[in-house]
Amino acid sequence: MSENFKRDNASEFFAVGVDIGATEIKAGIVNSRGDLLDSCSAPSPRTVSSLRDFVHSVKDRAKVPLRGIGIGCKGIIDATSTRVKSLPGDLHFLEGEFLGEVIDVGALPVCAENDARTALVGEVLWGAARGRRNVVMLTLGTGVGGAVLMDGVLLRGANDAAGHLGHMTIDPRGGLCICGNYGCLETYFSSRAIESEYSAHVHRAAPTKLSIRNGGELPNPQAIFRVAAEGDECARYVVDRALEYLGAAVVSYLHTFDPEIFVLGGNMVAAGSQLIAPIQEKIARRTRILLGREVPLVFQKLIGLGGVVGAAGLVFVKEKLLAI
Ligand SMILES: [Zn+2]
Repeated sequence: MSENFKRDNASEFFAVGVDIGATEIKAGIVNSRGDLLDSCSAPSPRTVSSLRDFVHSVKDRAKVPLRGIGIGCKGIIDATSTRVKSLPGDLHFLEGEFLGEVIDVGALPVCAENDARTALVGEVLWGAARGRRNVVMLTLGTGVGGAVLMDGVLLRGANDAAGHLGHMTIDPRGGLCICGNYGCLETYFSSRAIESEYSAHVHRAAPTKLSIRNGGELPNPQAIFRVAAEGDECARYVVDRALEYLGAAVVSYLHTFDPEIFVLGGNMVAAGSQLIAPIQEKIARRTRILLGREVPLVFQKLIGLGGVVGAAGLVFVKEKLLAI
């Protein structure tokens, strides 16, 4: 049984975890071992009332007593008050709202946190970073998110914005990023960046195995990694270039945070060994003097519903039922 458990092994407790993404909302009932007992998903809500209805439908399905509701959400979240401080894009209607008030579940405790941080909490309680107290996690998806645990404490910063690792400047002369900065990691290694870089080659009529579909649909990163392995020269160039930037970024995070373990998450980890082997090689070479040790680079264990499980974990940690 886990060293994280501050409890009698015979007892078990439960919480609802909710993961609000830009296109999909996921939720489930999670027990104190990190098992997902029930889960569901729906297109992301576009109104406060539809979010409330979704959470209530999950809560009402629970056949067990709940210790609370944990919510992971994109954007900058004040974990103390559950207020959404900043949330551009499709979920902008939540900006300024207190999630605890929005879902309105009476006396049941409600916790809220940035979604990359909830994913990290899940990995530390039950996943790839179990029991660790110094962890950096990078979530590689449409964009790039990040979270940092230092000495067992989630890094939040003065205004809850700490850990936006995808917006570290990789090239000061790089392209404009969604955040207003130039040359962020997200503009080099994200599914959008890789898609657009490959598509630029297609547009220039370079010899490529993949094409832009009639509806304007771009080749996706999974296909680009696949044809790179099959010898498509353009895909190879695009993937190698993106990995070069990602490797440089990971080295900077290792030098900055000195973690015990580094976790890569998000849907881009489907690239598997094509991703991790080149990065490990770059890290080993570039950190040998300052760090002088090999930091394990691992994939997120709770892929898919890790945000849901981590959000429930947030409740257990806040209620002092489990400890990080
Ligand atoms: Zn940025």
